[in-house]
Amino acid sequence: MAIDSKNPETLVLHSAYRSDDVTNSVAVPIYQTTSYLFDHSEHAENLFALKELGNIYTRIMNPTNDTLEQRLAALEGGVAGLAVASGQSASTFSILNLCEAGDNFISSTDIYGGTWNLFANTLKQMGIECRFVDPSDPENFRAAIDDKTRCIYAETLPNPKLNVFPIKEVADIGREVGVPLIMDNTAAPVICRPLDHGAAIVVYSTTKYIGGHGTSVGGMIIDGGNFDWEAQGDRFPSLNKPDPSYHGAVWTEAVKPLGPIAYILRARVVLLRDIGAAMSPFNGFQFIQGLETLPLRMREHCANAAKVSEFLSSHDKVDTVIYPGVQDGEVRRRADTYLKGGFGGLVGFEIKGGKEAGKKFIDSLEMLYHVANIGDARSLAIHPASTTHSQLSVEEQLASGVSAGYVRLSIGIEHIDDIIADLKQALDKA
Ligand code: PLP
Repeated sequence: MAIDSKNPETLVLHSAYRSDDVTNSVAVPIYQTTSYLFDHSEHAENLFALKELGNIYTRIMNPTNDTLEQRLAALEGGVAGLAVASGQSASTFSILNLCEAGDNFISSTDIYGGTWNLFANTLKQMGIECRFVDPSDPENFRAAIDDKTRCIYAETLPNPKLNVFPIKEVADIGREVGVPLIMDNTAAPVICRPLDHGAAIVVYSTTKYIGGHGTSVGGMIIDGGNFDWEAQGDRFPSLNKPDPSYHGAVWTEAVKPLGPIAYILRARVVLLRDIGAAMSPFNGFQFIQGLETLPLRMREHCANAAKVSEFLSSHDKVDTVIYPGVQDGEVRRRADTYLKGGFGGLVGFEIKGGKEAGKKFIDSLEMLYHVANIGDARSLAIHPASTTHSQLSVEEQLASGVSAGYVRLSIGIEHIDDIIADLKQALDKA
């Protein structure tokens, strides 16, 4: 019997699984299997018809991943999760589950560059229009919604600007007209629960803080179970109209005995079935391991990042520090409202001397890793103008918050003295 708790520290260790039914194994076993023996033909028939829920084939479900899905859903206060192969596939599925050619959705402009490309180019090629909107005024989202708008998409703590998204303000606008908010909470697990503020769906790149150790790529979609898809029949045909790929099933009807899981069930049995971006059970195991220490690590990430921001603020080679804890005005109010227990582990700064100084700083780091990643237990650094954003024009870089001297740090859980010592010696050389 799994143990329920409201406390993240406990539920990441105990929710959804106590021990293996067959072996009593305390660690969640890696079910490295493609398929599952059916008891008899009626059993098989019932599983395929979704009259009974159970394991069929690992592309669609797996017991290791199931524990991860349930635990992360519990951490977020959602009703169910779907593990997928990467954060990118989580974002893709979250949109494709609602949109088809001719539809549109609205995205905050403050999102990860890979997601931007997906929305602006790849989904466009499929006939799905993404309308990008500046999140500094939540009313911008209302102005962009029309009858063909299927959802709104945003990130809780988007880098490089690190301006926290107005979750409740935009979720409320969406709910007034029947449009759900999907939040990418990759940079703010534990410290923010978007579903508590009115979001309908949460997506993660589990590659980052949830894995936490830089070993595995994965993603997750969590259904809040808090959005009335049926009330908006015409807006969500994928959930309310007969599905020709599943004997005419109407997903909002089909889930009636199971609970409010129409969205996530369709994502699993239609999108994962057809597109196949499944999480490997081995990676699922790695994410379960990571999740066990996530609340503990987030505390350290947040505490160390606060000290790094303090150190950088007083350094004469630093022009500006970009970090929610040093913001003021409306952006600070949003950070205080939506982040609890810390401002996250990401810190940006503008180094005096522009691009050359930025590159010199990065090359002088001895302990921090120069990598294009965030959320690792190790501290990481990158100079976006010469790497991740180098294909953009200078104007485009500035619009996305990347100046020539901008350096992004993902602060890890090493001893703070060692992190600061490395930053200091590299700044001295820059
Ligand atoms: N969302 C955010 C906020 C990210 O930072 C990333 C990757 O950097 C992704 C999604 C994509 O995740 P993945 O690399 O696991 O596909």
